[in-house]
Amino acid sequence: MNKQIDIQLSANRKEKPSFSSLKFGKTYTDHMFIMDYSRENGWHDPRIVPYQPITLDPAATIFHYGQTVFEGLKAYISENEEVFLFRPDENIKRLNRSSVRMCIPEVEEELALEALKKLVSIDRDWIPNQEGMSLYIRPFIISTEANLDVTPSQTYKFMIIMSPVGSFYKEGMSPVKIAVESEYVRAVRGGTGNAKTAGNYAGAMIVQEIANAEGYSQVLWLDGKENKYIEEVGSMNVFFKINGEVVTPGLSGSILEGITRKSVIELLQHWGVPVSERKISIEELYDAHQNGQLEEAFGSGTAAVISPIGELSWKNEKMVINDGKTGELTMKVYKALTGIQTGKEEDPFGWRVKVD
Ligand SMILES: *Cc1c(COP(=O)(O)O)cnc(C)c1O
Repeated sequence: MNKQIDIQLSANRKEKPSFSSLKFGKTYTDHMFIMDYSRENGWHDPRIVPYQPITLDPAATIFHYGQTVFEGLKAYISENEEVFLFRPDENIKRLNRSSVRMCIPEVEEELALEALKKLVSIDRDWIPNQEGMSLYIRPFIISTEANLDVTPSQTYKFMIIMSPVGSFYKEGMSPVKIAVESEYVRAVRGGTGNAKTAGNYAGAMIVQEIANAEGYSQVLWLDGKENKYIEEVGSMNVFFKINGEVVTPGLSGSILEGITRKSVIELLQHWGVPVSERKISIEELYDAHQNGQLEEAFGSGTAAVISPIGELSWKNEKMVINDGKTGELTMKVYKALTGIQTGKEEDPFGWRVKVD
């Protein structure tokens, strides 16, 4: 069985879009990575091929029972043309954790990392070299066996596709308005909330639609059992600065373990800023706001890196945070993380991985 990455380069390269008018997720690079799994052969035939559609049987289990996992990370190009990934080993480990939850066979970490690096290296001309821009990388696995029986698929495909993305903050960083969601939940303990799997996002779309229609950009999710404890904001993890201490919900099993979240915590600890991972209820947050102790709030995730929260709406109450402006610590965290990611700043943690 072939375990070496085979490379078939595209003969007709696509025209690059104007990077200034990029829309998220609409443009893909010249190549993709693909690898197959079967019970007999395990993961095999890893290859980089021209970006192309795939063909599946209509009975493939992915279409019916959604056995699938995904990841999201970015490649950045520095001012002196060095290409970096940010903690890609963490993404591969999380992909495997999600896979275990969804009964999908794990991939070999080293091979997956090599695939990521090779693919980025081949399509490095697609990394926008302008401020705030990057190449978004989407590794994912789908179940491909034609079988309507509800049972784990015997065959899978692991693919990596990549899309250049424009600046998240074209008009500068501006805090968003968030609605606290008291009706729907994103995930429950014992469910699939801590796996990056499609169903979690499909189930959240209606909530996002309602929030958008009411003028909010995201919702703040509460726990699925008591509808009380804060979990996440949209598809980001969430942080609050309360009376000098930074608080983020502890990993409860229904929260997605963000790599940005982990990096924010490590960065704050490195700076000596008090940070705790614990349960935090919406009442506690409301009281902190009433007492003037809710100083800052922000979401964290690969897409935006850091997204400041300017206003939270809960029942009929509005909590305006830091006069609706980006907090000082929020900005400091954003600058430090993006500085490390893009090669502008020192990387004392060894988070950057250079792509040759
Ligand atoms: C991906 C994701 C995050 C953020 O994870 P990062 O590794 O920081 O990008 C947070 N919450 C949800 C629900 C996610 O899907």
